[in-house]
Amino acid sequence: MTILVIAEHEKGAVAPATLNTVAAAAKIGGDIHVLVAGQNVGGVAEAAAKIAGVAKVLVADNAAYAHQLPENVAPLVAELGKGYSHVLAPATSNGKNILPRVAALLDVDQISEIISVESADTFKRPIYAGNAIATVQSNAAVKVITVRSTGFDAVAAEGGSAAVEAVAAAHDAGKSAFVGEELAKSDRPELTAAKIVVSGGRGMQNGENFKHLYALADKLGAAVGASRAAVDAGFVPNDMQVGQTGKIVAPQLYIAVGISGAIQHLAGMKDSKVIVAINKDEEAPIFQVADYGLVADLFEAIPELEKLV
Ligand SMILES: Cc1cc2nc3c(=O)[nH]c(=O)nc-3n(C[C@H](O)[C@H](O)[C@H](O)COP(=O)(O)OP(=O)(O)OC[C@H]3O[C@@H](n4cnc5c(N)ncnc54)[C@H](O)[C@@H]3O)c2cc1C
Repeated sequence: MTILVIAEHEKGAVAPATLNTVAAAAKIGGDIHVLVAGQNVGGVAEAAAKIAGVAKVLVADNAAYAHQLPENVAPLVAELGKGYSHVLAPATSNGKNILPRVAALLDVDQISEIISVESADTFKRPIYAGNAIATVQSNAAVKVITVRSTGFDAVAAEGGSAAVEAVAAAHDAGKSAFVGEELAKSDRPELTAAKIVVSGGRGMQNGENFKHLYALADKLGAAVGASRAAVDAGFVPNDMQVGQTGKIVAPQLYIAVGISGAIQHLAGMKDSKVIVAINKDEEAPIFQVADYGLVADLFEAIPELEKLV
């Protein structure tokens, strides 16, 4: 049994979600190979070779894979994937863009967002916004799987010494071209990697009031998230959304401020280690999942909390 993990990388570095995906591969068992597809990714391949438990790194370094356009990367992964028992990618925007195409090209079902490995062919994954956990068994020749990173503790980024092998195949489907990107710039930690997340909801009333959360987050070294209601109201950009249709986070500490606790929001944060909720409505459902709850007006509680940090 040999497993191919598609490395998530950006700006010349292996993204943390890759380490969680390798952890899932290790639970399946067998040799683990990592594919690094991109352009000028020699440094990423070297870093991937050091990941604990990785036996081999395949590097597809070609202009066709610059920006990892899924139309080009998917045929590469499908071609390589035929020789593997499992193909795994993190359930990030990138992984979710590439892997369904791979599954289609290999004519197999995709197993999405697994949170645990029961055996080499049986996995658990949340359904109904995390309200039920399905156990899924697959008899596909190649099991194509996205991995929810919060379900697996990351393996060590250092300690391995895998062989690095170049892959010559260059697939340029000619269907899409990279035009440009506008990246949100923030000095705060990335939402899905942060140890502490402070999130605001509709109770914040407007985008200006998020300054209270930014001030608190900066003192705590935290990332700032938001509910979909806050995003839809235009308070903050949608890359801050936590939940079923946003980002899935599981930090050590999640502070939900002015968020009611709808199931779609809980789907994105309820695996957090400690949940603190601040809400003026004591009946708010968020208190059912909170370890610590403060029934208070957030405009009084947040500045007070900030002074105490
Ligand atoms: C298909 C689908 C997908 C969805 N995906 C997501 C998702 O990914 N993420 C997500 O978050 N939602 C998602 N939603 C929306 C979700 O159902 C809720 O509508 C949303 O989470 C509500 O956001 P909220 O808690 O900020 O707002 P509300 O439900 O309006 O809650 C605001 C809370 O703020 C409190 N409050 C108000 N003023 C104060 C104050 N001064 N001090 C303290 N507390 C105060 C109120 O008591 C209230 O509890 C989705 C919905 C659907 C149908």
